[in-house]
Amino acid sequence: SIVVTGATGNLGRLVIEGLLAAGVPAAEVAAVVRDKDKAADLAERGVELRVADYSAPETLRGAFAAGDRVLLISGSEVGQRVPQHRAVIDAAREAGVAHLTYTGILGGPDADFDLAAEHKVTERLILDSGLPYTFLRNGWYHENYTEHLAPVLAHGAVVASAGEGRVASAARADYAAAAVAVLTGEGHEGKAYELSGDVAWSMTEYAAEVARQSGKDIAYTNVPAEQHLAILTGAGVPEPMAAILVDVDAAIARGRLAGTSGDLARLIGRPTTPLADAVSAALRG
Ligand code: NDP
Repeated sequence: SIVVTGATGNLGRLVIEGLLAAGVPAAEVAAVVRDKDKAADLAERGVELRVADYSAPETLRGAFAAGDRVLLISGSEVGQRVPQHRAVIDAAREAGVAHLTYTGILGGPDADFDLAAEHKVTERLILDSGLPYTFLRNGWYHENYTEHLAPVLAHGAVVASAGEGRVASAARADYAAAAVAVLTGEGHEGKAYELSGDVAWSMTEYAAEVARQSGKDIAYTNVPAEQHLAILTGAGVPEPMAAILVDVDAAIARGRLAGTSGDLARLIGRPTTPLADAVSAALRG
C-alpha cells in the first residue's frame, strides 16, 4: 500500500486526494490517523484506516506492512517530534517497508533556525535506519500567511520582524502534489528535494498584494524581534510558539527561506501556485 501519516491534517488530506486523483485505487491507500472519527470520510471512500499515535510506539506496530511506500508527514507537536518520528521510523523498519518519504524543512542539514532542529535529527535517524528514503524538504506554505489575513485587514498592517528578507513560499497543494509524484513515481530513492515556490517575495510585496486585492491601505511594519514577540504573545500565541515564529523571521531576514531551486516545479511538472492566488482564495473566504 501507499501509506500516509498525518492523513487528517491539511497536507495529508491533499496528498490522499492527489493519490486518488492520480488513479491509485482507494484499496491501495492507507491513512495513519490518531482519531478514526476525523477520517470517517476517507474510510467511506475505501481508504484503509490504520489508527496510531506518534507518541505511543506500541500503536505504530500495526501502522505499516512489508513493502509499503510510506509518507511520514512531520508531526505538529513541536518539541515532541524527535521521539515521535523515531517511533515511526522504528516501526517502519521493523515492518520492512519498501520506501520512506519524509516532509522535512528547506535547507535540510544546513537550516540553522530553531524549527529545523527536529527535522535535521529526523533526517539523520532515517539515514541511520538504512531504509530507502526520499526527503521532501518543504519550504514555507503560502497559507502560513494567507490563513492569518484577518488581523492584517483589521490593522492595515503586515507586522513581522523579517526585514526585507524574501520567502519562496508555495501552496500546500503544491507540496502535496510533490509528495504524490514521489509516492507514485520512480527514481526518487536516496534523493533530497529542496522544495519551494518559483518566486521569492518580501513582506513589503506581500502587503502590497493584499492591499491591491482588498482595496485597503495595507503596509508592512517591520518591528524588532522583542517587539514582535510581545505582539504575538499579546495576541494569545503561547510564548514558545511565538519565540519560534520570531526566530523564523530572523531566518527569513538571513535569506534562509528564499531559495528557488526549481525542484518543486520540476517534481510537479508545472509552475508553483502564485502567492496572489492564495491571497485571492483567502479573501474570497
Ligand atoms: P496539520 O497540523 O494540519 O497536520 C498535522 C497532522 O499530524 C495531523 O493529521 C495530526 O493529526 C498529525 N499528528 C500530529 N501529532 C500526531 C501524533 N502524535 N500522532 C499521530 N498523528 C499526529 O499540518 P499540515 O498538514 O498543514 O502540515 C503538515 C506538517 O508540516 C506539520 O505537521 C508540520 O510538521 C509541518 N508544517 C510545515 C509548514 C510549512 O510552512 N512548511 C507550516 C506548518 C506545519 P490530527 O489530525 O489528529 O491532529
